Amino acid sequence: MNRVINQTEGTSKDILMILIGGIHGNELSGLKAIENVFKFLEEDNITVNGKLVGIAGNLQAIETKKRFIDYDLNRCWKPDKINEVFNKEESELKNEDLELRALFNLIDSYLEEEYEHTFIIDLHATSSDNGNFVIHSGIPTNNSSVLKALKLPIVINLDEYIEGTLLKYYNIPGVTSFAFEGGQIGSEKTIEIHTYGIWEFLYQCGLIPEQHSLGRILHYEELVRSIHNHNPDMLRVLYRHPVEPKDYFRMKPGFESFQPVTKGELLAVDKKGEIKAPLDGQVFMPLYQNTGEDGFFIVEEVLDHSH
Ligand SMILES: [Zn+2]
Repeated sequence: MNRVINQTEGTSKDILMILIGGIHGNELSGLKAIENVFKFLEEDNITVNGKLVGIAGNLQAIETKKRFIDYDLNRCWKPDKINEVFNKEESELKNEDLELRALFNLIDSYLEEEYEHTFIIDLHATSSDNGNFVIHSGIPTNNSSVLKALKLPIVINLDEYIEGTLLKYYNIPGVTSFAFEGGQIGSEKTIEIHTYGIWEFLYQCGLIPEQHSLGRILHYEELVRSIHNHNPDMLRVLYRHPVEPKDYFRMKPGFESFQPVTKGELLAVDKKGEIKAPLDGQVFMPLYQNTGEDGFFIVEEVLDHSH
């Protein structure tokens, strides 16, 4: 697989959109969705109003279908870590060092093309069921408010709890960057939600004209209606339960994102015993795979005053 999966551009310098799939190598739905979206553009013979790029995140991890090899490629986007990697000798670089360097250089080269506005969409899937949401750093305003078009809950402060995400690193003027969680790893529906969600977003931000997309946009609306019935618009994280491999953390079966929990409710066990909810709220991103540093989060709804 090439780092650049596909790209297409028109003559306009209005919008640059960078889609990233497989920054976690076991989450392949984003990569398939990127291929689908470029196939649609080709079938319909659409010239985009700017530039659309689809790139692959952690090539070596994708190869082995693992979340990562040495370290998580979505926890290392910090200036000191990036400097460290760029200051190393070429021969010392291995696995994620190489991925981070290549991805940084590639994104940097696109950002230098100076489009009016840039969107960076990092496509993920989760180990639990019904994990459809958007992660953005802060309440979306101005150019970023278009991400509400995805009609999914937006989590606004996850970066206060986990460091080094790509979406936070590119939260800079002129760029809207967010993670788009499509659903459960390995599910066909996750690929559909990513594919048609990207399509909806292409239309909403003006990268493609409406007349080419109505059927697909309606299909996305159907998909969203089928996955959530009472999800709030916006949420903030109240609590994170960190885990390490030596903890032998195991989530109790049956939890999914946004499921209400009450203080004291049994959520998981590890080698020290039972883990109970420390406060009332909604469980978020419960961990049902054996790699990952976040056991679960607890979130609460926030009122959106931006519109
Ligand atoms: Zn992921």
